[in-house]
Amino acid sequence: MTHSAVVRPAQPLPDRAELLPGIWRLPLPLRDSPLGHVNTYLVRSDNGYLLVDCGWDTADTLRALEGHLRALDVKFPDVRHLVITHIHPDHYGLAGRLREITEADLSFHRLERLYIESRYADADELLTEMREWLRLNGTPQAELDRLNRGSTSMMERVQIAYPDRTLDGGEEIVCGRFAFKVVWTPGHSAGHICLYDAGNKVLLSGDHVLPHITPSVGLHVRTTSNPLADYLDSLKLIGRLQAELVLPGHGEPFAGLPERTAELLEHHRRRLDEIVGLLEQTPDRPRTGYDLAAHMRWSRRRTWDDLSGFERRLAVTEALAHLELLHARGRVRKRCADGIVTFSLPDEE
Ligand SMILES: [Zn+2]
Ligand SMILES: [Zn+2]
Repeated sequence: MTHSAVVRPAQPLPDRAELLPGIWRLPLPLRDSPLGHVNTYLVRSDNGYLLVDCGWDTADTLRALEGHLRALDVKFPDVRHLVITHIHPDHYGLAGRLREITEADLSFHRLERLYIESRYADADELLTEMREWLRLNGTPQAELDRLNRGSTSMMERVQIAYPDRTLDGGEEIVCGRFAFKVVWTPGHSAGHICLYDAGNKVLLSGDHVLPHITPSVGLHVRTTSNPLADYLDSLKLIGRLQAELVLPGHGEPFAGLPERTAELLEHHRRRLDEIVGLLEQTPDRPRTGYDLAAHMRWSRRRTWDDLSGFERRLAVTEALAHLELLHARGRVRKRCADGIVTFSLPDEE
C-alpha cells in the first residue's frame, strides 16, 4: 500500500465515470486507510473487458466492484483480462479471488512475481527480518515492536495469485479502441508498470505518479539496490510521454503530466538537500536512518511524536532510500560498525 509517510484524511468514495469512450474509472473503498479509495479501470472490447488493478481482498471492496459492474451491465465472466500495476495490497489483494470468479488471465511484471513469496507467503519470517533491519538502522529498542507491527493486518487483505503472463515492459496490450504499451517504472515498487496509449494520449499511472500525494519510495528489508535512483529515472521517462490524461491509482484523473513529474523531481531534490543539511548540523556525529527520519519534516501540522508506528516505519524506509541515493552519488558516507549502520558527510578532500 505504502504511500508518502503521512497521508491525508479519508474522503468519500468518488463516483464511477466513463472517462473516454470505452474506459471507466471504478473507485473501490479501502476501509481504515487514510487513502480512502483505490481506482480501478475497466476497458471495453468486443470480446470482453480488461480490468486494471483490483483493490484488496475485503468483502466491501468486492461488493463495490460488483455494484459497479452490475450498473454497467457487465458480468464477472465478461472480465477476461486483469492487469496489475504492482503487488501492493490495495492494487493486487483481490486478484486471487477475482480470478476464481472471472477466469480472467492475470498479468503483471516479472519482478513483482519475484517478490510475492517474500512479501506475503511467510509473514512471521518477514517480521523477524524487518525487526532486525529496523534495529540495524537505529530504531530504539523500545520502539521496535511499534514500528514493526504496522502492516500485518494488510497481509490478510491479500489472496496470493500468480500471473498467467509475466510482463517485462515494452509489450502492447490491445483492448477495444485502446493499445496500451507496458512501461516498466521501478521505484515505488520494483516491478511497477504504467500503461500508455499514445494514440489516445492516455496514461494509466498506478502509484508511480499521483495527483496530490507523493508516492512513497522506500528501501525495503528484502529489496536491495537503489529504489530512489530507479524512481527518479522512471519519472523522467514518464514525464516525456505525450499523455493528455493521466489515470492514477488514487485521486482524480488529471492533465499536466510534465508539470506533475517536475514537482515530484523537485520534491526529492529538496528532500536530499534536507538530509545533507541535517548531517551538516552534526559534522562530528554519524547518524542513523532512524535518527535522520525523526528530524525530517513529514507534515505541516504533525511532529514525529504524532506519527503512528506504521507512519514512522514508512518514514524510516523513505529516509533510507534517500540516503542510499546520496551514498551512490558520493554525497554521504555509510558505515556499519557494532551492528549499527550510520551516515556522515564525506571527509573534505
Ligand atoms: Zn496504492
Ligand atoms: Zn503502491
